[in-house]
Amino acid sequence: MSGANEPSTERGTVAQRVADVSFHVGSVPILADVTMDVRYGEVLALVGPNGAGKSTLLSVLSGDVEPTSGTVALAGRDLAEWRARDLARARAVLLQANQVAFSFTAQQVIDMGRAPWIGTPESDDDERAIREATAAADVGHLTQRGFPHLSGGEKARVSLARVLAQETRVVLLDEPTAALDLKHQEAVLQIARGLAEQGRAVIIVLHDLSLAGAYADEIAILAHGSLVARGAPGDVLTESRIAEVYGAAVRVLPDPDTGRPIVIPRRAL
Ligand code: ADP
Ligand code: MG
Repeated sequence: MSGANEPSTERGTVAQRVADVSFHVGSVPILADVTMDVRYGEVLALVGPNGAGKSTLLSVLSGDVEPTSGTVALAGRDLAEWRARDLARARAVLLQANQVAFSFTAQQVIDMGRAPWIGTPESDDDERAIREATAAADVGHLTQRGFPHLSGGEKARVSLARVLAQETRVVLLDEPTAALDLKHQEAVLQIARGLAEQGRAVIIVLHDLSLAGAYADEIAILAHGSLVARGAPGDVLTESRIAEVYGAAVRVLPDPDTGRPIVIPRRAL
């Protein structure tokens, strides 16, 4: 991606700062004292067991969920101070469930990614942004199809194209690979890497620890609403920590080609 919305801030600087964030529903703690930075130019993978609070944390980062206590800042400013329209120009969100209320075509869904830029100079980039996003998500053959009739994986990729077309500096992706075939899983992580190379901050919720290990700059593990580890894949993905967090025995092996950690369950013969 290029054009007027090209990130100008230096990579490595803080895009989002989560400080002492807790989120309760009634008296039930969903997130507990989460503190973490998200930096431009990096892919941060958020992993953890079902119900750990990953989607909730992503919603807190996006500003869709207001923490019970603690603060979340974007570009140095508390999210509470952001206007919705400015927020939509600063961060894009791929939700876990790609529901769309009406029978839009895939093209219309992708076009929605440009809505935040209506009336700005960036709208000159609409056509290019949509074209590039459509190609990157490999959905050019689906654009005239009705979104509700697409397969789960096709919906996920069309929704990803919408998020890419938005061309924001922060990109939040909740399990974008869950419904995807092998090739498209890799492609999505390649896209995430490309966004980071452009200086964008990418936070991506993943279940596949090997995928996280292969592509993330850093991995954050969430368990029972708390951050239990954060760091480089090789440091975070240890057999003992995975056993503790997931209650599953695994082997962590180095990828013969890249040296990155591969995580496989231990299986009896
Ligand atoms: P993950 O994405 O890691 O699987 P979630 O963030 O979706 O987990 O949810 C974490 C836990 O909090 C789950 O047990 C979920 O049922 C609960 N939860 C999340 N949001 C709400 C809510 N608004 N009301 C009640 N429970 C919630
Ligand atoms: Mg989730």
